[in-house]
Amino acid sequence: MIKQEKKINKKSKPKIAIVSLTSCEGCQFALLDLGEKFLDLMGKVEMVDFRLLEDEDDPGDKLDIGIIEGNPMTKENEKTLKELRKRSKILVVLGNCAAMGGIPEIKNYQEGKNTIKYVYKYIQGIQNPEIKEVDNFVKVDFVFPGCPITGEEFLKYFPILLEVAKTEDFSKIPEIADQPVCVECKAKGNKCLLLEGKPCFGPMILGGCDAVCPTARMGCQGCRGLRPKGNVKAMRATLKKMMTDEEFENVTEIFGLRDDIEERK
Ligand code: SF4
Ligand code: SF4
Ligand code: SF4
Repeated sequence: MIKQEKKINKKSKPKIAIVSLTSCEGCQFALLDLGEKFLDLMGKVEMVDFRLLEDEDDPGDKLDIGIIEGNPMTKENEKTLKELRKRSKILVVLGNCAAMGGIPEIKNYQEGKNTIKYVYKYIQGIQNPEIKEVDNFVKVDFVFPGCPITGEEFLKYFPILLEVAKTEDFSKIPEIADQPVCVECKAKGNKCLLLEGKPCFGPMILGGCDAVCPTARMGCQGCRGLRPKGNVKAMRATLKKMMTDEEFENVTEIFGLRDDIEERK
């Protein structure tokens, strides 16, 4: 009897899967870093696939939410991503690599095909495609930004996404508030780096990371991406006194920001 009840409960839970493409898996570890808070949240769902927690085969069922981390670099990654999209009511992207190309995208801006010669001097047959964000391949419904993502943000928005999947009212998919990193930075009482003549991208970057970098006296380098209303022109003009065009470009390459900035021009 008890066994049967358990079976029924399991069936009624929304199904989710966390799937990794090419990545460092740091965003998945940001989830595990939440400890009991993450496990409590996961108690409300049926986890079909999450290889950091279990190694059972994914049965390939339909999903309420499919979560993807990493970049679709290989043909196999691309196939995994497209299959996950087909199975999921809502497709959620986890982190900078998936959403913006991430650190691997540096290759696109440098010598492209030649880069591999420096890294794998003596090895042949390495796949070396142009790095493209997940939304070049499939429709994305929600992005948890950052490198890595912010765990608390996951706890805030994931229950809303579960509700949307349940009601299938996709107009209720939430949006992260368009406010700059500066809001949290100032709330922490930090002295502004720009006022000290030190570069920081904070005003044009989407907040929500608790301003971790400027709090550690490092300029924001934009891992959470441009704010929808971020004023790139004004930011560049302010930074002209602090860094050369080349230095600016180099920083925008770290987290795949450069192509997004070019699109805004
Ligand atoms: S976004 Fe950053 S932390 Fe997340 S998988 Fe990519 S490199 Fe790792
Ligand atoms: S240090 Fe950076 S994030 Fe903080 S207020 Fe200044 S510009 Fe904004
Ligand atoms: S301060 Fe900028 S670079 Fe640092 S975590 Fe936040 S968005 Fe990313």
